[in-house]
Amino acid sequence: MPYEPEYTKRFLRDLKRYASLRKQVKKQIQRILEDPFASSKLLTKRRTDWRGKHSQRTTRDFRLFFAVCDECLKRSFKRKGYNACVGCEKTGSDNTVIFLAFGTHSIYDEEPPI
Ligand SMILES: [Zn+2]
Repeated sequence: MPYEPEYTKRFLRDLKRYASLRKQVKKQIQRILEDPFASSKLLTKRRTDWRGKHSQRTTRDFRLFFAVCDECLKRSFKRKGYNACVGCEKTGSDNTVIFLAFGTHSIYDEEPPI
């Protein structure tokens, strides 16, 4: 299934902030859109609640965070209150991947943007 990207304001801001990694992140986005479940991990509750969202390694220090709406629907992540995606109202399937944030491990201590 081909996935379509959506970007939060937070993600676009992060991409500007870490402009030196921009090329690398763009390639990573393409790979994620081909298969968002390959080499990403589904997050659990930590000090803040990132359940229902994925992270994937960019460099040793940087992680990219995203949500896969098809999974939101199939695993009821929205109903459980994990993900508050605006778009994933569809029933059946939704091929959106929402790119949430990009940065260092300190993101795990922040509240997720959705
Ligand atoms: Zn969703």
